[in-house]
Amino acid sequence: MSIRLLPIDVSSKIAAGEVIERPASVVKELLENSLDAGATEITIELAAGGIDEIRVVDNGSGIPAVEVDLAFERFATSKLRLAEDLELVETLGFRGEALPSVAAVSNVEIVTRAVGEDQGTRAELTSGVVTRKGPIGAAAGTVITSRNLFKSLPARRKFLRTPAAEGSRIQTVTSRYALAYPATRFNLIIDGSKSFGTVGSGNLREVISDLYGSQVAHSMLAIDPAPPVTDEARVLVEGMIGPPSTSRSNRSHITIFINGRWVQSRMLTYALQEAYRGFLMERRFPLAVVHITVPPDEVDVNVHPSKTEVRFRREGLVFSALQQAVRNVLVADIPVPTLNEQPADTSSRPVSPGHTTPLLASPMWPIENPSAPIQSETPVPSGEYPTPQLQEPLLPRDAVPALRVLGQVQRTYIAAEGPDGVYLIDQHAAHERVVFEKVLAQSAAVAPDSQSLMEPVTVALDPSQHEMIASHGELVVGLGFMVEPFGDRTFIIRGVPALLSGNDPGQALLDVLESMAEGGGFESWEERAAYSMACHGAIRAGMSLGQQQMSELTRQLEDCNQPHTCPHGRPTMIHLTSARLEREFGRR
Ligand code: ADP
Ligand code: MG
Repeated sequence: MSIRLLPIDVSSKIAAGEVIERPASVVKELLENSLDAGATEITIELAAGGIDEIRVVDNGSGIPAVEVDLAFERFATSKLRLAEDLELVETLGFRGEALPSVAAVSNVEIVTRAVGEDQGTRAELTSGVVTRKGPIGAAAGTVITSRNLFKSLPARRKFLRTPAAEGSRIQTVTSRYALAYPATRFNLIIDGSKSFGTVGSGNLREVISDLYGSQVAHSMLAIDPAPPVTDEARVLVEGMIGPPSTSRSNRSHITIFINGRWVQSRMLTYALQEAYRGFLMERRFPLAVVHITVPPDEVDVNVHPSKTEVRFRREGLVFSALQQAVRNVLVADIPVPTLNEQPADTSSRPVSPGHTTPLLASPMWPIENPSAPIQSETPVPSGEYPTPQLQEPLLPRDAVPALRVLGQVQRTYIAAEGPDGVYLIDQHAAHERVVFEKVLAQSAAVAPDSQSLMEPVTVALDPSQHEMIASHGELVVGLGFMVEPFGDRTFIIRGVPALLSGNDPGQALLDVLESMAEGGGFESWEERAAYSMACHGAIRAGMSLGQQQMSELTRQLEDCNQPHTCPHGRPTMIHLTSARLEREFGRR
């Protein structure tokens, strides 16, 4: 084919694809415009997860009648003039790409009235072109409606998930902006019913309460806004962080803003996690809302059309300012780190061998080194661990011989004897496997094994957790949770799965919902939930076990369908064959 210039409707759709990936991107761009327009109240309404319809209503400055067409032209913006201005961007938008992009991939209707004009304008656009336009009576502000997203791009549309899943992403985006702009009143309405609303009082704790419930809001610790001592760099860190007791099972509750813009930065997330080092158990993550203010020329937001990535001129300064500010709060408020008093929790993976024993020539799975620099913190998606390769031949895939327990080693491993040598069993990994299979077997049964609580407890869910319980409530009940709605997004827990009877009921429910949302490498909802239960319900490393408990555990492991690995594929046991022992001792 010869080279030719693409027709404008094709090129604009390609360009739009960079900005608009899914309904949540439409919402993000429209919200940013409303905030740039100085809106103090923004309402977002969705139908079918935003795929059928998204409407954003604001009371901002509006668009003057003569500029309405221009607003939908590519690279038309009121926010930048000169290339140099790019160095000093203070608005959320600046690329002039959002409105034309939304109009290229959906049908758009706009009603807007600029402050100072006595009449509004209404316009309709199809494939990015204004097809109807006229004056209309309207309140000051702007209403933009996007309908039938990606209807003309079936390939794109195929990649969208269910309306519930897309809606949940929109909840996430909206809640981030609500946290960033406590003085703006946000309302999110999904299919006619209110998902959440904030009052716009300007108080961050109140927004946190609207999103996470009053208990969490009450526990949050304020970051002292005094700038940390980083000489000439004016890096200001503000916001609120959760105490270790409100930890979460993933990073998705860490929200970071740079100059009012929500960013996803692994570097900054890592800085925050580092600040919590010693305060949180392994694999637990903080809840945090952090605002970082830097002079605009210190940060480049023009990295990607979606504007969620940033680059800093002096990355190290921002990193240490954040880490220090957070650390100071934790040290001041929680003088005794909780973790050091207890043996490390190894709910996630085996204790990393600092040295290699002769038994294992090299680590069998990626070992997370918490002190490694950020670059090497390549998170291995769960479930993708390579199959462990012991030097000794693996046992037959599906059988563990009858084992005789010899004793416990380091309160972490069970030493046992089998017909062909010695076995070392990781008590946590092994029990995880046992519980995992037990939960899966049970979820197929009729009556779940629940334990009623003496005193019911209430728990407030965030919008995405709420979405999860709304759509998969039966599964949660099937696991043994006895829960009832208790107004808004609060639930009352009257009973928990018997397996989790020793755990904090609220936390257990939140974690199950989170793991279900996350996936964690498991395909089915049942497996996701079962994994969370296994993780919580399993015996920990560091727990001393009696002879009978150990025998019981090995017996249960022998009964498992896949006894050699934990649910995520890490080994539950190491086998030292008799031949190996003979060789090592020079008997052969
Ligand atoms: P950008 O935000 O990068 O400038 P957009 O395509 O998102 O580009 O918007 C183009 C222009 O339309 C903006 O610069 C602004 O002047 C105007 N505009 C868009 N949305 C609104 C709104 N909700 N209220 C007022 N003006 C708006
Ligand atoms: Mg914009």
